Amino acid sequence: MSKLVDSFNRKHDYLRISLTDSCNFRCLYCMPDENMQCLPHKELMQPDEIYEIAKTFTNFNTNKIRLTGGEPLVRHDFSEIVEKLSQLPAEITLTTNGVLLHKYLKLFKDKGIKSVNISIDSLDPQVFQSLTKRNVLSRVWENILLYVEEGFHVKLNVVVMKGINDKEIVNFVELTKKLPLHVRFIEFMPFSGNQWEKDRVVTMPQMLQVIAEQESIAKLKDEVNDTAKKYMIQDAVGTFAFITTMSQPFCGGCNRMRLTADGKMKNCLFGKEEFDILGTLRKNEDILPVIQQCLFYKHKKMGGQFEDFKKVNPEDLTNRSMIKIGG
Ligand code: SAM
Ligand code: SF4
Repeated sequence: MSKLVDSFNRKHDYLRISLTDSCNFRCLYCMPDENMQCLPHKELMQPDEIYEIAKTFTNFNTNKIRLTGGEPLVRHDFSEIVEKLSQLPAEITLTTNGVLLHKYLKLFKDKGIKSVNISIDSLDPQVFQSLTKRNVLSRVWENILLYVEEGFHVKLNVVVMKGINDKEIVNFVELTKKLPLHVRFIEFMPFSGNQWEKDRVVTMPQMLQVIAEQESIAKLKDEVNDTAKKYMIQDAVGTFAFITTMSQPFCGGCNRMRLTADGKMKNCLFGKEEFDILGTLRKNEDILPVIQQCLFYKHKKMGGQFEDFKKVNPEDLTNRSMIKIGG
């Protein structure tokens, strides 16, 4: 029996590990401040520590680990971390901005990584640059095509913001006609200092309406614990989906646990509570009770911080910025 159960009887088997709080992009909604101070390397979990911590999770039925950040591929010891984690009985995946992916193709093939989530919020070079502060859309796009050609399951994460990239929703969906891509539109979420406004959120019903005006669409079956509501257009080879964190939260089936790059466990993206796993490991103490305590305190919904996104005042939320949590 799994020991990773919260007080609402939700079983937890999916761990998201942030490898760094630094990044080679400066996305408007995540890390807008060019001068943000990153953690010193010694405060980050080291490869052996990541392995030891992850092993405790997999010993208790965690079967999926996602590497994220910040940008996970900027860590100089990224390959060493993947080599170690690939020894554990869990599926390893990652979320990346994609700009360095070409360097890791061989590693991923060797270590059995089959699926990657690549973030790309615009197909227009100018909008891409204004969103990320980097002029690298063509490199990211080449890497998306490379990973598709090499047979990876490629999901594209698109954070949709009104007045910024919402005009491109149909363009993204149309990519799935000829390419086996799985586009996921993410509703814009509020975090510390990310200029979130409720009027910038484009909800799933609004996006669906725009798509249905242009294409004939079908609903697909969603998996248990899936955060995405999946659809496809007729005769397409790919799919599209919505991550409706704001308009239709999926907390009831939540199976996710998070580790920040400095080894703090969070039981929810929006939760303010943190539990010091790395500090406990460095004192040579058992981390399982700390993991269980973290799950015991998990709130029923939205980290206990809000119910209706239309009533959220971002100033009232206590949390790290997205880049410091790990998306
Ligand atoms: N650097 C990697 C990347 O961009 O894919 C991994 C980390 S990033 C924090 C993980 C995911 O969170 C990305 O898909 C990003 O678009 C998403 N994200 C960041 N801030 C967000 C926000 N305010 N609302 C919704 N999604 C957000
Ligand atoms: Fe970096 Fe990803 Fe955040 Fe963009 S979303 S600033 S790429 S961590």
